[in-house]
Amino acid sequence: MSALTEVYKEIAVCRRCELYKTATRSVPGEGPENAEIMFIGEGPGWNEDQQGRPFVGAAGKFLDQLFASIGMQREQVYITNVVKHRPPNNRDPLPTEIAACNFWLDRQLELIHPKMIVTLGRHSMARFFPNKTISKIHGSAEKRDGVIYFAMYHPAAALHQQNLRNEIEHDMLKIPALLAELKSPPQKTIQPKQISMF
Ligand code: URA
Repeated sequence: MSALTEVYKEIAVCRRCELYKTATRSVPGEGPENAEIMFIGEGPGWNEDQQGRPFVGAAGKFLDQLFASIGMQREQVYITNVVKHRPPNNRDPLPTEIAACNFWLDRQLELIHPKMIVTLGRHSMARFFPNKTISKIHGSAEKRDGVIYFAMYHPAAALHQQNLRNEIEHDMLKIPALLAELKSPPQKTIQPKQISMF
């Protein structure tokens, strides 16, 4: 069994917070263990709670369209959430629940080692960009220790607000160039020495 599958089994019986009491099943995340990009949302909604898979409802369909806009498929990336059980009635996850569930996100990060981490929405942004405001930093990348961190609006929010939809679509289009730059950082242009004939 892979280390990631072992983590999923542990998440399924996690009692670190109370969310398991009202959830149908855990939604640990999915994607290849060697994924280059990890997308991190907020927490499972109703559809995700039923299926045990992240982003399979309306927001997920939009996310799939966003992947397609950059020639990617969801099977190529790793998708998870800051909390692995559904908060009741789709309420926001509590800070205590996010803190408890950080343990699992850390394990996933250690195992997957993504080159790029894309946060979807402010709860996930807060983990990687503390004290920042999403309206200010969305679409801008920060490189730390060789990993690119990139904040985007949550696809569910963007579904209902055309201005956010435009922003998230625009931000997504920046991802391929950022990934390409990681693989081959731009060379510094060296000015040829001036050759003097005299
Ligand atoms: N919203 C999220 O943040 N995550 C999901 O998995 C689904 C909807």
